[in-house]
Amino acid sequence: MEQLRLALREQQVVLDNAGLGIAFIRHRVVIRCNQRFAEIYGYPGTAEILGATSLSLYPDAESFHALGEAAYKILATGLTYKSEILMKRRDGQLFWSHVTGKLVNPSNTDEGSIWIVDDIDEQKAAQAQLHSALNEQSLILDNAMVGIAFLRDRKVTLCNRAFEMQFGYAPGELRGSSSRQWYLSEEDWLEAGRRCYAPFAAGQAFQGEMLLCKKDGSAIECEVRAKAIDAADPAKGSIWITMDIMARKKAQNELLQARADLERLVQLRTQELRQTVAALQATAQEQKKAEAHIQRLAHFDALTGLPNRILLNDRCQQALSVAQRGKQTVALIFLDLDHFKNINDSLGHRVGDEVLIELAARLKAAVREQDTVSRLGGDEFILLLPDTDASGAAHVAEGLLKAALMPFQIDQHELTVTPSIGIALYPKDGADLDTLSKCADAAMYCAKEDGRNGYRFFTAEMQAYSNRTLILGNALRRAMERNQFELHYQPQISMETGSTVGAEALLRWHHPELGAVSPAEFIPIAESSGLILSIGEWVLRTATTQLATWIQNGMTPITMAVNLSAVQFRHANLPLLVTNILNEAALPPHLLELELTEGVAMTHPLEAIAVMHDLRQRGVRMSIDDFGTGYSSLSYLKRFQVYKLKIDQSFVRDITVDPDDKAIVGAIISMASSLGLKTIAEGVETEGQLEFLRARGCTEAQGYYFSRPVPGAEFEHYVRGERLRVALG
Ligand code: C2E
Ligand code: MG
Ligand code: MG
Repeated sequence: MEQLRLALREQQVVLDNAGLGIAFIRHRVVIRCNQRFAEIYGYPGTAEILGATSLSLYPDAESFHALGEAAYKILATGLTYKSEILMKRRDGQLFWSHVTGKLVNPSNTDEGSIWIVDDIDEQKAAQAQLHSALNEQSLILDNAMVGIAFLRDRKVTLCNRAFEMQFGYAPGELRGSSSRQWYLSEEDWLEAGRRCYAPFAAGQAFQGEMLLCKKDGSAIECEVRAKAIDAADPAKGSIWITMDIMARKKAQNELLQARADLERLVQLRTQELRQTVAALQATAQEQKKAEAHIQRLAHFDALTGLPNRILLNDRCQQALSVAQRGKQTVALIFLDLDHFKNINDSLGHRVGDEVLIELAARLKAAVREQDTVSRLGGDEFILLLPDTDASGAAHVAEGLLKAALMPFQIDQHELTVTPSIGIALYPKDGADLDTLSKCADAAMYCAKEDGRNGYRFFTAEMQAYSNRTLILGNALRRAMERNQFELHYQPQISMETGSTVGAEALLRWHHPELGAVSPAEFIPIAESSGLILSIGEWVLRTATTQLATWIQNGMTPITMAVNLSAVQFRHANLPLLVTNILNEAALPPHLLELELTEGVAMTHPLEAIAVMHDLRQRGVRMSIDDFGTGYSSLSYLKRFQVYKLKIDQSFVRDITVDPDDKAIVGAIISMASSLGLKTIAEGVETEGQLEFLRARGCTEAQGYYFSRPVPGAEFEHYVRGERLRVALG
């Protein structure tokens, strides 16, 4: 018995010290239990729970019966029943327990049952917590917009759907696979590992943009964030969050592009607008300038900027009306440069222009503020001096001469010019600009006649000097530079063959206002002013050039007869000039015939003989023009070495009716032939005259009967027609 008691005590100790609650239940009453059992149900000791009905250990009768039903089916077979159920502590608090039950004697339930109870409430709660955490986690994972992957040893342990989709994989396809496959190359993969190591070890996140690889091999740009799960233990792996930023990048780029486009467009528009505004401004300015220019052109000389004739006219009217009221005098000064044409001809118009510009400035500086210096064109200036009398005008004229005195430095040229000045005064000489300027012009012309570089007042004598002569003289001075001269040619016909053997060059002057002026009128004026020298040179050059052209065009060479003025003949340079001009035209000298009047030869016969000798030596022929009108010494005629005598037309005119003329012409012809000279009759107009001359033995004839003097081309045409006539018989 003692032994049994001991065994029971031992058993009780074992029971009390077991970690689990153990109870023996019979007839639904706790018969025995260990300390742990009592503790689990909230009793201080076993004594308090013994005798308690097992129903009190359950939350309610229903759960008690439910367990009973479920358990006793199994227990009755002798097996152990195990279950996790809710139980109730003494204070009514429910708790989860793990219960294991077994019948003491399966064949007799009355012998009771043994129950082992484990309080798993905390464990259950922890489990539930874990479960819900996991649930939450998977919710997050599955619904995240970003890709999330867990790696361990660089292999995927877990990843969400977004991650798979980003890289083009099927659900679950990535699990267990190496992260190498998201990289484009081995090198990239290794590099990513190296880059992540430092932040991972430091417990920091790695963050950056990476170019990764999709399943199909294409590249995907991602923003990546990765972190070690446990910085202290890299073996626990890492979490990777990836976001496809291709779209974002694209959108960003598109946004940038759009912004740049917009910027450019705005700039373009701004620029266009600016250009339009600038163009508009430029146009407006241009227009203003053009208007100002037109205004200037209308009233000012373009070269010198001085007032022109129109403005001068205005100012003159004004000055004259003021003068009239105030009984004042007004001086009008006409200024013209001497031989200015030489500067233009030898140095060019640009140099000439520079001289005029400089002169204009000097003239302006030489007069008062209220005076007007205007330019009419060429080298002609008119100065209007209000409230100025004769002595004042003389004073100004001297000032002007002095102003022109200083040499003009144009480029490398040092030029001197001398002006000739004419002065007219209101009211003495005229009451309007036109009259006053004509008077001043005439006075200026006289200043030139008097040796230039000086000034003259208009006088009554000048008035006496034919207005026409003055006008012609002035106009003639500008005729050459204004190309108003032309040569006409009149054929000279051989009596023997009836064909043209020569041409006489006859000068023609056409003035725009004066019309055609006869050489008989203007040649003497040109001679008295010395202008004949340059005009004569032009005639010589033009006539020889014309002859050379005709010959080039196929004309049989003929003689070119050129009239020579006395002034030309007396010029020492003549023989050389003639030779040079012939050389220029590449003509043999015998084709040139110089016509001299009797007077020219006879005034200074000895000098004339020397010049004619020189010309003859050079091969040039000479004839005496208008022969019979002057007094010719027969002895000189021989020594002159002339080639031909031109019988003056005054004898020819009445040759058929006037017995005197018949006698004179007959005498001239026979005298000439006795001296070995040829004869040409000029002014032949009729068949009768021609017949008479032929009968008397005249060698050549010239006159309207054959042709009037005509332009070069027409002359050429005439000779061609004549040939045709001869050829056709
Ligand atoms: P000239 O040398 O005696 O010239 C002959 C003049 O008679 C020319 O007059 C000519 O047109 C004219 N004439 C020709 N055939 C006939 C005709 O059948 N009937 C009439 N009634 N007249 C005829 P133009 O051309 O008026 O010349 C006049 C003068 O002017 C010339 O007389 C000449 O002395 C001079 N002259 C003409 N050209 C020049 C020139 O280049 N230099 C020089 N120094 N004097 C020239
Ligand atoms: Mg002549
Ligand atoms: Mg003549």
